Amino acid sequence: MARYAGPVCRLCRREGMKLFLKGERCYAEKCAIEKRNVPPGQQGRRRRPNKVMGYGSQLREKQKVKRTYGVLENQFRRYFAAAERQRGITGETLLQLLERRLDNVVYRLGLATSRPQARQLVRHGHVQVNGGRADIPSLSLKAGDAVSVRQRSAKRPAILYAMEEVKGRGIPDWLEFDASTITGRVTALPTRDQINLPVQEQLIVELYSK
Ligand code: SF4
Repeated sequence: MARYAGPVCRLCRREGMKLFLKGERCYAEKCAIEKRNVPPGQQGRRRRPNKVMGYGSQLREKQKVKRTYGVLENQFRRYFAAAERQRGITGETLLQLLERRLDNVVYRLGLATSRPQARQLVRHGHVQVNGGRADIPSLSLKAGDAVSVRQRSAKRPAILYAMEEVKGRGIPDWLEFDASTITGRVTALPTRDQINLPVQEQLIVELYSK
């Protein structure tokens, strides 16, 4: 599956917020948002992202969500179409579908310091779901699913480092994690207030409803 391979801090600067795409650097002073929170490009300092309204604000909210989860346009549209087909509030369902992605759950459990790193762990076959190999980052998890690290990958420094780092970050309420077996479980599907993402998803619904 295709993915964005350009400079990621630029994406955060474009959205004017941290998208947490670089792991530990995102929590350090070196973060580009901490140092230079202006849109990229020569005209960056002249742009005023906070004044964006109407279509522009709808587009920006969509871009924030897409970039946070590392999803490209066509796949994002498919998520939106799936959210529309389900009962409930479309915007919240959209975020729930994205949050249930395997790479996101690996990140939320603290097995990786960022979603891009979690995606790589999954793609390289280090992760198991319900005891079986799972190397598709977009795999949608359901309540009761168990996510673990393959036995021979359990000592990888990147995973051990991420597990230490998550102690300060915490694990969302809809997940539980047993560090002794490096196994996490989806205890329930996430509700909107359990999804820590400062976006107005209703604007995305308005954008796609035109
Ligand atoms: Fe975004 Fe992380 Fe880069 Fe900061 S360090 S700008 S949060 S990707």
